[in-house]
Amino acid sequence: MTDQDCVFCKIVAGELPSTKVRETERVLAFRDINPKAPTHVMVIPKDHYANVAELSRSDPALAGELLAAAADVADDDGVSEDGWRLLANSGRNAGQEVFHVHLHVFGGKPLGPMLAV
Ligand code: AMP
Repeated sequence: MTDQDCVFCKIVAGELPSTKVRETERVLAFRDINPKAPTHVMVIPKDHYANVAELSRSDPALAGELLAAAADVADDDGVSEDGWRLLANSGRNAGQEVFHVHLHVFGGKPLGPMLAV
C-alpha cells in the first residue's frame, strides 16, 4: 500500500535518499532531515497509513512493531539510559506535516517541557 505523492513512501521505495538506522520487514527508521535533538529519528511503517488512528485500528500488531523499533533505535543511539521521548503528531492542531504515520524519537539532551506553552 503506497501513496504516489507521499514523501515517506518515496523513501521506503528508495526514490528519495535517507539515512537509515533500522529496518525490518515492515518498519523503517531513518534520521530526520531537520533534527531538533542529537537523536531525532523517524520510525514508520513501510505501508502507508495517514496517522496513528488509521494505523492502530487497521493493524494493531504493526503499531506495536513501531513502538518496539523506537525502543531499539533509542538503544542503538545510546539514549535509553538518560531518557528519550516519543512524539506522534496527528492532524492540524498538532502540526502534522507528513501524512504517513511516523513516530519521532528524540534524545541526546534534556528535552525540556512536554509542550511549548
Ligand atoms: P510531522 O510534523 O510530525 O509531520 O513531522 C514530519 C517530520 O518529517 C519533520 O520533522 C521533518 O523534518 C521530517 N521530514 C520531512 N521530509 C523528510 C525527509 N525527506 N527525510 C527525513 N525527514 C523528513
